[in-house]
Amino acid sequence: MIDLTEVSGLSDRKIGEKCGLFGIYGRKGLQAARLTYFGLYTLQHRGQESSGISASDGKNIRTHKALGLVTQVYSEQNFKDLKGHMSIGHNRYSTSGGTHDSHSQPVTSRRGNDDMLVLAHNGNLPMHDNLSKFLQEKGFYTGGLNDSELMHYVIRYFFVKTGSLEEAVKEAFPMFVGAFCLLVMSKDKIVAVRDSFGIRPLALGKLGGGYVVSSETCAIDTVDGRFIRDIKPGEMIVISPKGLKSQQLAKPIPKLDIFEFVYFARPDSFLLGKRVYDVRRNMGIELANENPIKGGVVIPVPDSSIPAAIGYAYTLGLPLEFGLTKNRYIGRTFIMPDQHLRGMGVEMKLNPIKEVIKGKKVVIIDDSIVRGTTSKKLVAMLRRNGAKEVHIISSSPPVRFPDFYGIDTPSQKDLIGSHKSVSEIKKFIGANSLYYLSYKGLLKAIGIPEADLCTACFTGDYPIDIGRRKKKIKYSYQVL
Ligand code: AMP
Repeated sequence: MIDLTEVSGLSDRKIGEKCGLFGIYGRKGLQAARLTYFGLYTLQHRGQESSGISASDGKNIRTHKALGLVTQVYSEQNFKDLKGHMSIGHNRYSTSGGTHDSHSQPVTSRRGNDDMLVLAHNGNLPMHDNLSKFLQEKGFYTGGLNDSELMHYVIRYFFVKTGSLEEAVKEAFPMFVGAFCLLVMSKDKIVAVRDSFGIRPLALGKLGGGYVVSSETCAIDTVDGRFIRDIKPGEMIVISPKGLKSQQLAKPIPKLDIFEFVYFARPDSFLLGKRVYDVRRNMGIELANENPIKGGVVIPVPDSSIPAAIGYAYTLGLPLEFGLTKNRYIGRTFIMPDQHLRGMGVEMKLNPIKEVIKGKKVVIIDDSIVRGTTSKKLVAMLRRNGAKEVHIISSSPPVRFPDFYGIDTPSQKDLIGSHKSVSEIKKFIGANSLYYLSYKGLLKAIGIPEADLCTACFTGDYPIDIGRRKKKIKYSYQVL
């Protein structure tokens, strides 16, 4: 029996990755890894735990990956080593599973530099027992492998069997149940594939004589590429010396995660043809229609709620002030391992400007309330700094259901909206008032039919089977 965990040096870990992908297939002579670095730098918001790049010159695949931010992970020497006109890269998002070097991607099958196939994954497979079973039946030991690694080995198995990367991905595709955008690279090809629900975004662009694939369009802009279109749910794109080929592997059932619009994507990206900035500003306009506060100063919680605050303040003719300064170099407080540290994280990250707040009716706009930690800390902080009234407005409805498709939101019991009513949450965070954008208002702001979105975090409506986890989900509150 071949022990796959031995081969790749992996240990036991928790699954749950939600990350950034970037890949380039360029003309011979292009230093693809250097451009991939800039793509990953632009996608830093999608993952801050680790980063990795694999590059191929058509003969050898070389990989460098490590824990840390994009700017910390790579040295000049790494780029000298990462030779070639083809490259895929990955930023990994922190999860509650702790940090370990072996979480880093692209997934490689060997240490050293003679890989036949490397893989980068954005998303999560809530059920993957079938993959372990399949590999075990073939004589592999799979203990401790996560979903991305299992996918890698299944594709590798078919690659060895068929000798063709696209055949391998095609064979493996029906076995993957969950959310996945994959970039898979062999020595001379890059395959990009998206699950048939398209839960996570993936965009295709043109770059010189070659192509670029990216989780978000903003990174295509950074490398001076031209965004062509979204890769379709269920579509496989093959880029090789013969050019670009597309094949639909499954019927598309589009369900882009609504939380990409709310929080996750950068405002300068396009999702389903919508500029995220415009959608978020619309959320502010909808909020102003639903809950027009009289007077006060509007302050966004930087950065993701800035467009909503602009829409809100502009519509109501209220002053907008950047009364909270964010330390942009602190990782997301959201993922801190315990509640005490998480609480401190908010203070390290956000600092109020006293003169903007003192004696004022302060209207704080945040994009979402998940555990309630940020809002509670903020209210106390603003009161300490002399705010007369603190009103909290969330530009999305209460997050009531955990995500199993790659945004590592906490278990349901930790989601404040799952077990407290709005008035109880208001009391808990100590605000003068609390208002959430309605679900209807959110859909209106996005302007895409509800049926084309995965709305699970707000509605509990999971488009992809989440298996035994479904039994644990409680549907105690009405969707607002
Ligand atoms: P909480 O403090 O747990 O209520 O989280 C809410 C804050 O976390 C808001 O300021 C959001 O901008 C941010 N947030 C929401 N979702 C995520 C996520 N998946 N990862 C990191 N931060 C998030």
